[in-house]
Parts: sequence; structure tokens; C-alpha cells
Amino acid sequence: MTYPNTQLFIDGRWQDAVDGRTLPVVNPATGQEIGRVAHAGRADLDLALAAAQKGFETWREMNAAARSKIMHRAAALMRERAADIAALLTQEQGKPLAEAKGETLAAADIIEWCADEGLRIYGRIVPSRGSLALRQMVIKDPVGPVAAFTPWNFPINQVVRKVSAGLAAGCSMLVKAAEETPASPAELIRAFADAGLPPGVLGLVYGNPAEISSTLIAHPVIRKMTFTGSTPVGKQLAALAGQHMKRVTMELGGHAPVIVAADADLALAVKTIVSFKFRNAGQVCIAPTRFLVHKSLLQEFTEAFTQCAKTLKVGDGLAEGTQMGPLANARRLTAMSDLIRDAVQRGGKLLTGGQRIGNAGNFWQPTVLSDVPQQARVFNEEPFGPLAVIRGFDTLEEALTEANRLPYGLAGYAFTRSLKTADLLGRYMQVGMLWINSAAITSAELPFGGIKDSGYGSEGGPEALEAYLNTRVVSVMNEG
Ligand code: NAD
Repeated sequence: MTYPNTQLFIDGRWQDAVDGRTLPVVNPATGQEIGRVAHAGRADLDLALAAAQKGFETWREMNAAARSKIMHRAAALMRERAADIAALLTQEQGKPLAEAKGETLAAADIIEWCADEGLRIYGRIVPSRGSLALRQMVIKDPVGPVAAFTPWNFPINQVVRKVSAGLAAGCSMLVKAAEETPASPAELIRAFADAGLPPGVLGLVYGNPAEISSTLIAHPVIRKMTFTGSTPVGKQLAALAGQHMKRVTMELGGHAPVIVAADADLALAVKTIVSFKFRNAGQVCIAPTRFLVHKSLLQEFTEAFTQCAKTLKVGDGLAEGTQMGPLANARRLTAMSDLIRDAVQRGGKLLTGGQRIGNAGNFWQPTVLSDVPQQARVFNEEPFGPLAVIRGFDTLEEALTEANRLPYGLAGYAFTRSLKTADLLGRYMQVGMLWINSAAITSAELPFGGIKDSGYGSEGGPEALEAYLNTRVVSVMNEG
């Protein structure tokens, strides 16, 4: 499939912006413009908001089984179209084709799971403390039209988690996906449209993120907003939502600690965590970033990690054998060189990488730094790139203190053979998701989300649907 221009999807129709504005889309592997995406203005947003209201009125009146059938059809279309969609995703975002295909197929799993879970949105009857003729019913219904804002690192996955849960709960969804990676989320929306979703139930816009979010969040039609992105932007949007008393789900940044305890299986730790570190070129909110290794294993771990990083095959995500693609945008190149320079100036040792590869495209060498002081920026700011920093520790307590030192609390990892250590870390590591002796394994049925500055709300499991539901009480007295 040749890379398309992407239009807005409003009221069941693909359309250009009313004023015809567009933005360029660039392939991060070549630096070349490959297409354009429509840039919505106020007139487009007004149409999209009216459609979302109309779509909500239609969708909430359909029964859950009918909604579920449409969602299952959308999932089947994603599976059928996965190869073509993955190729678009790689061209606009850079990740290797196999990762793009995996993301597309995982979207189908998420849609199916939410479609089924939507059949199980139950209320309850609570017996009265007084007359038994009083029927007290707790009912769940959809919150209303939702505005969803998603980033460029998982262009499909970030959208599908929100859209599937919201649709299964009976909400209409108005999505602003990332302007840098517009075509693959548009294909997701197309799958829903082709599956028979009524007009207005799902909308898609692109444009100026701050303009769109401030318009949608403040608008009375929108009853909830959900955002995935950086913590600073998340805080601004949560404040805006607070002013307008809108429900909020926030999936924000992280700086995941990896504790390699003295009794860890070192070979397992290296094998598991190195390839995972460089997946999607490290542009993953749950990417392992702060490697805290017991000093008895530090040298061996660092050498093995560095060796593996050196052998990774970096290239165009479309090329056979590529293990790591380019960074998704040129801002990440600047961020990498700034963080690395700062760490080295403060005494960190650059063990491998540290440079851009070539002059075309956003390729960056897989980078490993050791002996980085805690004050270095890279130990405090989310690196969001192919950059691993390693430090040694003497006691588990010291490692836990470092793990919990930052305001972030999204993902964490640990390697240990001790049940006691695993239990202790499970209780005291301040993260929303902890994997022990494993890379992150996420699935539709598991909650996904952070604590502390990494946000609130969950994007998986039954909690994901709950976030799109109001709980109300209706009491009926049948006496007299
Ligand atoms: P950014 O913080 O400006 O943008 C992050 C995302 O938020 C983008 O998709 C952007 O379009 C969107 N955004 C920005 N301002 C917005 C606004 N006012 N309203 C609505 N959406 C808005 O910076 P960036 O350069 O795109 O990304 C840098 C940082 O963002 C990364 O270092 C990382 O920390 C974070 N990030 C996190 C995730 C995640 O999965 N949690 C994904 C992408 C980026």
C-alpha cells in the first residue's frame, strides 16, 4: 500500500479540513516527506463535537450485544489488513516491521477483549435497610462523549486501548491522534467504520494539539478526557479538565528501575532486558531505564549488556533483519545528545554508542552509560530513547530507595531468585506495574497504568471500562 494522505473522520465521513490546511508527514528513516495530514480548525472541531453528541445518542441506545458484534468485526478487519497497516506504521514511525505487525494484531486482541467485557457491565440491587418494597438499584451507564489524545510511539496501540474500552462502555469517542504518525491510527478508525459503526460514534482529528485539547476539554459536549503522553503536558491537561469537572484518565511518563539483585540469574536478566530495552528504540513509557545492579554482578552485567547493545542491527524498519529502527522524530536526537553530554560531563562513562548514525534519518546508536551520578539529567528525566544507564548498589534497601526516588511510578523490573526479595519488592516498589524475572508482558485483560506522577486510571482489564462508566443509584418504592 503506498503511503496515503490522511483526512479527518467526522460524522462517518473522511474529509479534508474546512479551510484545506494540511501538515507534512515525514519518514523518520529517510527524513523525506511521505504524505500530508489534514489540520482541523475550529469549524472542523465544531462539526466533530456535534457528531460525537449525535453518535453518543445512537450508540448508548444500542444493546451491548449489538455493539460487541460491530467491535468483533472491526477486530477481524484489523487482522485481515495487518500486513498493509504495519507497513504504514513503520513508514511513519520507524519501528521494525515485525513490531508494527505485532502492534496491529495486538489491537485486534484488545478490541475483542473489550467487546466481550462490554457484555458484562452489570449493576446490582442493594437490599433496603427499611421497607423491603424499596428496590435500590445501582446502575452503570456510559459517561458520554469522550476526547482522547494519543502520542506517536505506539500510534495504533495508544488509540485502540482508549477507543475499545470507551466504545464497549457505550461512549462515543473523539480522537486526536499524533500528527507525526497519522495513517496507521486512521486505518484503525477505518476498520471500525467498515465494520458498521454508526456515524459520529468515532471521530478522528489532527491539528494543533494544544488548540484541540483546550477546545475539546472545555466543551460541554465532552464528558471525559483521556491522555497518553508526557507528565508535564498531562498535568496541564488534568488542570484544565479539573476546571471543567471532566472525568480524566492519565497515562504519563515513566523512568523504570530495573533491580538486579545479588541472587539474580544473570544470563536471564541480560537475555530478557537488553532486547526489551531497545524495543521501539527505547521510546516506550514502560521501557527499562535505570539499571540498578548489585555490585557483585555489576561488571559482568555491564559487559554482557554492552556487548549485546553493540551487536544490535539498526536500520530502516522496512529492511529485513532490522532490530532497531530510527527515532520517531528529530527532537529525540537532540534529547539523546543533550542527555549523554550531560552524563559524561558529570563523570559518567560512555561504554558504547552515544552518536547519531549517518546524516539521513533519525538513527541513533544503542547507548550504554555506567557510573552515572544520580544528579545527571538522564537519571532524573525520562530518556525516551535507546539509552541505558547502569549503577551499582550494595544493599537492597539502597536499590529500593533509588527506585522510589523519582516522582514517576509507572513500570518497574527486578531479577532475583529469592521469593522473599520478590515479595518485598512487590510490596515496596512504587510502580503501577512490576515484572519480576521477566520483561513487560501486557495484555488486554491486565490493568495498565501508573501511580504518582505517571498518572491515574487504568487502560486494561475491567478497570479500563469502569473509567468510561458513571455509577448511579435509582431507588423505587413499590409500597402503597
Ligand atoms: P510532548 O510532551 O510535547 O508531546 C507528547 C505527546 O503529547 C504528543 O503526542 C503531543 O502531540 C501531545 N501533546 C503535546 N501537547 C499537547 C496538548 N497541549 N494537548 C494535547 N496533546 C498534546 O513532547 P514530544 O516531543 O512529542 O514527546 C516527548 C516526551 O513525551 C517524551 O520524552 C516522553 O516523555 C513523552 N511521551 C510519552 C509517551 C507515553 O507513552 N507515555 C508517548 C510519547 C511521548
